[in-house]
Amino acid sequence: MSESSEKVHQCLIIGSGPAGLSAALYAARAELAPVVLSGMELGGQVSKTAAIENYPGFPDGIQGPELVAVFQEQAERFGAEIVFDSATDVDLSQRPFKVTTYGGEYLADSLIIATGALIRQLGVPGEIEFTGKGVSYCATCDGHFFKGKDLIVVGGGDSALKEGIFLTRFAESVTIVHRRDELRGGVYLAKKAKENPKIQFLWDTVVTEIMGDGTVNSVRLKNVKTEQEEVRDIDGVFIYIGHDPNTEMFKGQLETDENGYLVVDQHMHTSVPGVFAAGEVGDPHFQQVVISAGMGAAAAMEAVEFLEDES
Ligand code: NAP
Repeated sequence: MSESSEKVHQCLIIGSGPAGLSAALYAARAELAPVVLSGMELGGQVSKTAAIENYPGFPDGIQGPELVAVFQEQAERFGAEIVFDSATDVDLSQRPFKVTTYGGEYLADSLIIATGALIRQLGVPGEIEFTGKGVSYCATCDGHFFKGKDLIVVGGGDSALKEGIFLTRFAESVTIVHRRDELRGGVYLAKKAKENPKIQFLWDTVVTEIMGDGTVNSVRLKNVKTEQEEVRDIDGVFIYIGHDPNTEMFKGQLETDENGYLVVDQHMHTSVPGVFAAGEVGDPHFQQVVISAGMGAAAAMEAVEFLEDES
């Protein structure tokens, strides 16, 4: 859909992950006729996530793309409109707020930002060159290419543990390479990973180079305590070292913290009245689907109240 700048929407939502789609559901049920700008991928990060086992209501777990589909179905059932377009610029200096997209320009009386966070890269030689050729950030997408192979997973958080465990379905071995000697991830996943016979840990170690010949065949590793280096033969490298918030286009217009996350109060208000934020873009701490969904619902309820207070 291309949009003329004439129409003023009551509620525009940027982003279609759990926060954006929950916000859309709540705003739609409040008859704000919300428009959701999907971003590059409907569902955001969740659409690339393997089984989600901790979202309430799904006792057997649910695949990320399936969860996105039911979120979408429920939001659309109440009248939310999802537009497959991405915001490229915003002007929050006056209302209605102006959002520029690849397809046009949107005006809105209230705005909910749910742009999420981007996968962080290692920044070592070979990483970009071999992305899709042995380097991956998505076990769900690429794991099945590595049947019987030896893999490393970089990171020590819940993502590295969870996806490392998932990769043992296919791989012969998974070595989790962590830069410290203590995991950041929680007790449950740490226990599961440590009990998995296909998983080994390499502590105090960083990857300094990814090498190959067409596809990855080895990595250079460095022990950060002893400075000792080693080249290890490997078939694939899965990188799970956290995320950076998608806040570039809001810089200078909304308050951010030292890591670039939007500062939101307990009611999802940003520093500009009428602009709310939900999900990982404003949540450096929890980064859970259920929490992002809850933040989205809260942001929509606050948008409703904000618009009501004006009328
Ligand atoms: P995270 O918790 O921020 O962990 C990132 C890991 O990568 C840390 O261990 C960090 O090391 C390491 N790291 C960061 N930059 C690095 C670099 N340049 N080189 C090497 N290592 C680097 O990120 P996450 O694992 O993606 O998790 C994000 C949030 O989602 C967390 O709140 C997590 O609990 C949640 N989550 C939950 C589940 C679940 O099923 N419960 C699953 C996935 C994610 P340091 O520890 O030294 O900082």
